[in-house]
Amino acid sequence: MKYQPTVGLEIHVELKTVTKMFCDCPNELAVSGGRSEDIKPNTNVCPVCMGHPGVLPVPNKKAIEFVIKVGLALGGKINPITKFDRKNYFYPDLPKAYQISQYDQPLVTGGELLGVRIHRIHLEEDTARLGHDTAGFSLVDFNRSGVPLMELVTEPDIHSAEQVAAFGRELQLILRYLEVSDANMEKGQLRVEPNISIAPVDSAMLGKKVEVKNINSFRAAQDASLYEFKRQEEILEAGGTVPQENRGWDDVKRITVSQRSKEDAHDYRYFPEPDIPPFETAIFDPEDMRRHLPELPKEKRERFMREYGLSDKQTEVVVQDRSLSDFFEAAVSELKEDIRTGSIPALYNYLASDFRGLLNETGTAFADIKINPESFADLVALLQEGRIMSRQAKDILRKMFETGEDARSIFEREEMATVSDEGALNATIAEVVAENAKAAQDYKAGKEASMQFLVGQAMRKLKGKANPETLKELFKKKLS
Ligand code: ZN
Ligand code: MN
Repeated sequence: MKYQPTVGLEIHVELKTVTKMFCDCPNELAVSGGRSEDIKPNTNVCPVCMGHPGVLPVPNKKAIEFVIKVGLALGGKINPITKFDRKNYFYPDLPKAYQISQYDQPLVTGGELLGVRIHRIHLEEDTARLGHDTAGFSLVDFNRSGVPLMELVTEPDIHSAEQVAAFGRELQLILRYLEVSDANMEKGQLRVEPNISIAPVDSAMLGKKVEVKNINSFRAAQDASLYEFKRQEEILEAGGTVPQENRGWDDVKRITVSQRSKEDAHDYRYFPEPDIPPFETAIFDPEDMRRHLPELPKEKRERFMREYGLSDKQTEVVVQDRSLSDFFEAAVSELKEDIRTGSIPALYNYLASDFRGLLNETGTAFADIKINPESFADLVALLQEGRIMSRQAKDILRKMFETGEDARSIFEREEMATVSDEGALNATIAEVVAENAKAAQDYKAGKEASMQFLVGQAMRKLKGKANPETLKELFKKKLS
């Protein structure tokens, strides 16, 4: 490899506070429950978030707390004194011609995630949303204007496209664990902008950076980075220089296209926001907040492998969804001690495949499920005790999912107990042999595959309520 790619990330996150950053308008967009298209444009607005002259911004305490939380989770330094600044620029999505942001005294400096150093994390306000209709008009929706926006900037420590996506995904998971943002990329609640450059491997200097915008998925972030590595390499190879610019990601053509040349910070004429005095972060008691942080994904992964003996892959499935991991733990703790360790693999399987399958199939959110962990543990216990087979377990689970009824009461009411009485099994076997004389003969003549068929016929008659291994043994006895 002749060239080394280097990426730093700028990530904007809409925080899910109840109200906006500097006024008390509802902040509906940052909550995944409501889709932006369901909310009528320009309904959550007031003179403050529409940028009228002479209004006074009042900072949202919760938003500040949320950013401090993220800073603590990433091991950053919470700066003792912080302030807001005006970032001046003109664009139709920003009628007051400046964004309230933070310049030289951000809330957080430093920190680290997946080996990538965090440069800073600050708090600002989102802008209005521009819509361009087919008749050639542009429309402005101020519902998004003033939504609390956290901006995280990394050091240029990333050197592969996979790392870009991995960093984004892990940050998203942490934001969800901290419950500060739903961080849904398609909804624009999390926006990743990679700053990408390449330079000859032996060069001490970084190349000119290109900032890529309009990325709406981690997959796109990865593909856009890869595309830029190649494009920039081709320019250098041809003896050219890469112009410093902003480029947009075209999600259909899977390419980046030139947008505009990039301003430097001095073009924004930052100056202190005169309507909000600097303040001490001690009033939020960051040390106390640190003690109350929830368990984070990294710690949870280690603990799940250690305590429950799950593999890397299994752990990841559970940890990716905090509700799922809570449910898993609660169900495990409901298992009786003598069968607990032995039952965890089955519990994991029914949770990760069948239960998640039902969630996906019905589009049910975790918050709306009717099954409780205790009943889920009961289902697994019935299975472990050999009282039901996998087929019954699946049926019972579906009924539990639909009605919320307990595993044991479904089991008893529907007479789902496995038939284990040898007399009853032998009666069925005799029937099957009589009805399938040819298959029975074939087996006797040495055709092993016929056994599968015979067992299958018996299972059908018994509606799946038998152990196939037991049936096989009994068939062998009968046909020997
Ligand atoms: Zn407002
Ligand atoms: Mn920003």
